[in-house]
Amino acid sequence: MGAGPAGLMAAEALAQAGLRVVVCDAMPSPARKFLMAGRGGLNLTHSTPMPRFLDAYGDAAARLAPFIAAFGPDGLRGWCHALGQETFVGSSGRVFPRAMKASPLLRAWLGRLAALGVEVRARHRWTGWEGAALRFATPAGDAVLAPRVAVLACGGASWPRLGSDGAWAGWVGGCAPFAPANMGFSVRWSEGFRARFAGAPLKRVRLRAPGFDAMGEALVTAAGIEGGLVYAASATLRGLAPVTVALDLRPDLDLAALRARLGGGALSLANRLRRAGLAPVAIGLVQEAVRGGAARDDLAGLVKALPLRLEAPMGLERAISSAGGLGWDAVDDSLMLRGRPGVFAAGEMLDWEAPTGGWLLTACFATGRAAGLAAARFAAAPCGDG
Ligand SMILES: Cc1cc2nc3c(=O)[nH]c(=O)nc-3n(C[C@H](O)[C@H](O)[C@H](O)COP(=O)(O)OP(=O)(O)OC[C@H]3O[C@@H](n4cnc5c(N)ncnc54)[C@H](O)[C@@H]3O)c2cc1C
Repeated sequence: MGAGPAGLMAAEALAQAGLRVVVCDAMPSPARKFLMAGRGGLNLTHSTPMPRFLDAYGDAAARLAPFIAAFGPDGLRGWCHALGQETFVGSSGRVFPRAMKASPLLRAWLGRLAALGVEVRARHRWTGWEGAALRFATPAGDAVLAPRVAVLACGGASWPRLGSDGAWAGWVGGCAPFAPANMGFSVRWSEGFRARFAGAPLKRVRLRAPGFDAMGEALVTAAGIEGGLVYAASATLRGLAPVTVALDLRPDLDLAALRARLGGGALSLANRLRRAGLAPVAIGLVQEAVRGGAARDDLAGLVKALPLRLEAPMGLERAISSAGGLGWDAVDDSLMLRGRPGVFAAGEMLDWEAPTGGWLLTACFATGRAAGLAAARFAAAPCGDG
């Protein structure tokens, strides 16, 4: 169920084990979120070595570890290469296919699956259980499938218009509520700032907040602030907003050096900030803060710790991923649903979250493969009871 990275990986494992495989997806074509992920450069995985790689999964690291040990960053890269898609490690340690996009990889993968006899049924929306079988809404009306084994890989609940709407949580027990993950935050910009700077990148800034301190890039949007650094802070800040964070707009200069660069008070605020090398958007941010009441007598202090009030997390509809989903207590160590023999779950449907940087897809591929292999073993067992 679900023709995303996790479902297709499960299908590959099942088909290679010799089973006849049907992949049902609600959408008119497969892997829409995967294709969307490739739009800004498909970040497949990360080169951070084990065991540090696993730290990114927080509380879920121990449950995900065996699946990622079996098929982790190296396995994933080898799998891509076998599909004719070379990969490379970017300067930040992130791993991308040379083509950067998802479409060539997906095309080659679907070709391999078709050669293995995997049938993809589009516009087949899973709508619930019919006893032990699965009920679907299809263009030809309702249908019921009773496969020997099933892998559920319906994704999380972010970007629902790409297919993963989380509706399945209504009939699959043991789900933690969904929350946006790797999302931006809304900010009340002034009209002038919004009109001038929406879409402007904030390069190399440092963000400090309770429980978070890191450098990176952010992006000013019409509604607020997004980008890698904000996504990295999002799990920490999600429950705290509205919250005021501190932005260091010149993290490469210490206070004394910045004070020297800013010069004396004879110049206008904008000119002093320009002299200190601040980009127009960063100058705009300082001016916003001053308009909002921030004291300007210690300008260097303000540039090093600019208060920015994040009003609320952006919603699931534009979050990169979601937290919540099928709880780890609802599945056994082989990812089989407790109380539903022969039904397995994989991918973002499971309750884990991770930062951007390739950790999301790595866990989806790893759990998809593990669930497919476990389902194949279950199907091959003499009594079908594993
Ligand atoms: C803009 C964006 C950029 C991203 N960039 C990256 C990146 O660079 N690196 C990275 O690691 N991750 C990235 N991600 C996250 C990554 O794409 C997801 O984590 C991954 O696609 C999840 O895989 P999945 O197979 O679990 O679920 P999905 O890819 O969501 O696939 C689930 C499938 O199930 C189908 N489905 C859902 N419900 C039903 C139902 N009831 N019946 C039938 N079918 C159903 C859906 O139509 C969908 O095709 C990005 C996400 C977004 C939105």
